[in-house]
Amino acid sequence: MANQEDNLFKNVIAHAKEYGFIFPSSEIYDGLSAVYDYGQNGAELKNNIKEYWWKFMTMLHENIVGIDAAIFMHPTTWKASGHVDAFNDPLIDNKDSKKRYRADTLIEDGIARLEEKIEKEVEKAAKRFGESFDRQMFVTTNPRVLEYQKKVDAFNERLKLAMEKSDLDELRQLIMDLEIADPVSGSRNWTDVRQFNLMFSTEMGSLAEDANKIYLRPETAQGIFVNFLNVQKTGRMKIPFGIAQIGKAFRNEIIARQFIFRMREFEQMEMQFFVKPGEEMQWYEFWKEKRMKWHKALGLGDANYRFHDHLNLAHYANAACDIQFNFPMGFKELEGIHSRTDFDLKNHEKYSGKKMQYFDPETNQSYIPYVVETSIGLDRMFLAVLASAYKEEKVTRDGEDGGDRVVLKIPAPLAPNKVAVLPLVKKDGLPEKAQMIMTNLKFDLRCYYEDKDTIGRRYRRQDAIGTPFCITIDHQTLQDDTVTVRDRDTLQQERIPVNALKARLTEACSINSILRKI
Ligand code: ATP
Repeated sequence: MANQEDNLFKNVIAHAKEYGFIFPSSEIYDGLSAVYDYGQNGAELKNNIKEYWWKFMTMLHENIVGIDAAIFMHPTTWKASGHVDAFNDPLIDNKDSKKRYRADTLIEDGIARLEEKIEKEVEKAAKRFGESFDRQMFVTTNPRVLEYQKKVDAFNERLKLAMEKSDLDELRQLIMDLEIADPVSGSRNWTDVRQFNLMFSTEMGSLAEDANKIYLRPETAQGIFVNFLNVQKTGRMKIPFGIAQIGKAFRNEIIARQFIFRMREFEQMEMQFFVKPGEEMQWYEFWKEKRMKWHKALGLGDANYRFHDHLNLAHYANAACDIQFNFPMGFKELEGIHSRTDFDLKNHEKYSGKKMQYFDPETNQSYIPYVVETSIGLDRMFLAVLASAYKEEKVTRDGEDGGDRVVLKIPAPLAPNKVAVLPLVKKDGLPEKAQMIMTNLKFDLRCYYEDKDTIGRRYRRQDAIGTPFCITIDHQTLQDDTVTVRDRDTLQQERIPVNALKARLTEACSINSILRKI
């Protein structure tokens, strides 16, 4: 991460804590690694993101319904889903620094360094040849580049095979062959590679009566799969149809850094779309497009999103891609879209002995549907909104204090508070008038009342938590029943009759205003 971006990220994290968005979990005990609590403003922002997703998926698609399944599930669920056997990361320790790494990530980084060498050769040649440089010709004929490329391809192939076969010795050999040194100690004194299952487990029942090992779900999807027929039958759903869910998931991540990007307890918003076998690719494309539209409608900047196709497919998928977002640490996965075939339902049928088939009344045939899944991390979405909203600015407008401000330009419908109600002074009946206005607005808009400090300071505090509108009640209000409305982003102030406030602000702050754009 470049220094400037690194600093920006640090500032975002510090801001999130200072203004009640995110606190380290159990901070008085020095926190718990990769676990976070959402504060008073964070909880509101998070709820608004959930609402935006839930409304889009379930209300705007008549063939999608939502459920709320339990976190604990019968342990066989995770046998059937493949998580007990295959939800592993290979880990390796450096004996000198005692630091732990994901072996596959170390190898990928090592291969990336080889690729950088190719780029260096290209850059050098481009300088040497000037205008007449033909990149394609150079990379396909230059002996040194060809040599590097051959190595890159060979290492990639070995990595792919080793991951497929869970060949841990080969992974270690790759680390040796790539001459990878620990970034901390600089040494190549590595332990063996071990397989590490990411699922947390606990016990249900008392110890005395043979307690059962159960898992904290590592994804919400399985709660949908096991309820597939319950929902289909009770909801009289016809294929194609979807089931959506928002809920907690738990993964014992080996390396959990980067704030709320990679947590051990996090929240997912997932939707499984059940389709006729053979039609999955068409629905996969459909959902790729729909989900991208959902993201872009928020207005965080179209250039901040891109698709990234998976080369190494998960054990259950026949096509998969990510929607990546330009986070402060670069483009990273925000949402996954996976064509999961009939893998899950077929296995649940096998392990449970219960039919998991859909009866098609039109063709009089039964079949196990295929599934296209959209899966987005709520916390990552939160980070995307927060990081892109965070701005350090100079204030140049008359009537404002001047100087610097930190402002969160959160899309108004997602902002924790929509309106700050601010009597100019704490006397002359202004607080009473302000309270009356607030009473009228607070059923439709989340309001925040404040009468302490100068108006400039109060504006700054609202900027820092992303409140899109500040209403100021002054002496003129008592005479003509108008107030000034200050816009967080443009800093423009406008006088508006009190009785026009509700209509004006509700539309600008409603989630529907974004949904209508999709
Ligand atoms: P990654 O490659 O980053 O580990 P993944 O491919 O394992 O992610 P999925 O299993 O596809 O992730 O999960 C779907 C979504 O859940 C991801 O797109 C991400 O937004 C979110 N997610 C996954 N793991 C975490 C985590 N540890 N913390 C926060 N969000 C997560």
